[in-house]
Amino acid sequence: MKMNGDVLFQVIIAILLLQFVIETILNYLNARKFGDPVPNELNDVFDEQEYRRSQAYKFTNYRFGLVSGVFSLLLILGFLIFGGFEWVDQFVLSVTDNAILRALLFFGIIVIGADLLSTPFSWYHTFVIEEKYGFNKTTPRLFVTDKIKSFLMISILGGGILALVIWFFQWAGRDFWLYAWGLIAIFTVFMNLFYSRLIVPLFNKQTPLEDGPLRNKIKAYAERVGFELSHIFVIDGSKRSTKANAYFSGFGKQKRVALFDTLLQDLEEDEIVAVLAHEVGHYKRNHIIVNLIVSILVTGFTLYILSLFVNNPEPSLAIGVTSPSFHAALIGFGILYSPVSELTGLVMNYFSRKFEFQADDFAKNTFTPMPLISSLKKLSKNSLSNLTPHPAYVFVHYSHPPLKDRIENLKA
Ligand SMILES: [Zn+2]
Repeated sequence: MKMNGDVLFQVIIAILLLQFVIETILNYLNARKFGDPVPNELNDVFDEQEYRRSQAYKFTNYRFGLVSGVFSLLLILGFLIFGGFEWVDQFVLSVTDNAILRALLFFGIIVIGADLLSTPFSWYHTFVIEEKYGFNKTTPRLFVTDKIKSFLMISILGGGILALVIWFFQWAGRDFWLYAWGLIAIFTVFMNLFYSRLIVPLFNKQTPLEDGPLRNKIKAYAERVGFELSHIFVIDGSKRSTKANAYFSGFGKQKRVALFDTLLQDLEEDEIVAVLAHEVGHYKRNHIIVNLIVSILVTGFTLYILSLFVNNPEPSLAIGVTSPSFHAALIGFGILYSPVSELTGLVMNYFSRKFEFQADDFAKNTFTPMPLISSLKKLSKNSLSNLTPHPAYVFVHYSHPPLKDRIENLKA
């Protein structure tokens, strides 16, 4: 038993080190291409001065990622090697011996502790890096209230789900995974439907897009492609960042489109309709439903594998916890399973990039390609995007194809 715990401990350390090495190599390869000549189709994205600014921004983020990556690695390794999990677990045991309360307190301390330790990094990223390049609109006060709100939200939603899952485990034993799967599936569908109504308002103000030429153009387009769209909202993204975005959420009667106010400032009307046509494409090609079903299936698979491990003491012992428990096993399992979830992530990114091409094709065929091309260029320019990413980095991390490939596809 102890032997197995020791071997698994070494496997965990090896997984963490290997992930760090792979990530560092990918970042390095990507950074080596920062200076590559801009492809011909993209030479009108930046002027000379903006291009230099985008180079500097990419290098700054690269160095920042390296430093924060080393910090996270040392933190988790230190915690594992010096018995951090055992220390927290013994403290929690001295407070309560109720399994559900123990798990809530244990995760509460770990999650909030890890978040507080990484706060200086996110603070630096927002108020030094993003500020320097003119992206930041967040005030320190907003930064702090955002943090508090997300803590509360995670405590209520995450804590509620965790408590129920452990309750299922106490009650149904190894079959808990089926009940947990049902619960998380219902929660996922519910969030997909009502995220914009319930969660977004905690952080942003959403107002219906006002009547006028833009709304009329959008409505005319939506009617032409047979898409019922009554909920078009403008969201005040400008209170945090100048970067622009648009997204689609929900399905059926709950479907709605949110346009960042920054998007409305940056783009012409035709370009906004083109962005919207792309989002409608996602819907029409069933990407929303497919993503939802796939994520529910992946969750079920993960929970099933978890159910095979969670009754054994080894995953707890492997993270140095001496009195095995569901919550300690969950952390041990989480790290041991992470290579598998990275693989599923790769597959999902691969399909996501395919879906982006399909949505672009939909916009090209039902609207026109030119305004989508110019909007993508403007958005890349305004966020100082990387125009020359390394293919390996794209393969692993990009959920959207690089700008060059999207434009080639739209022009084809
Ligand atoms: Zn898309």
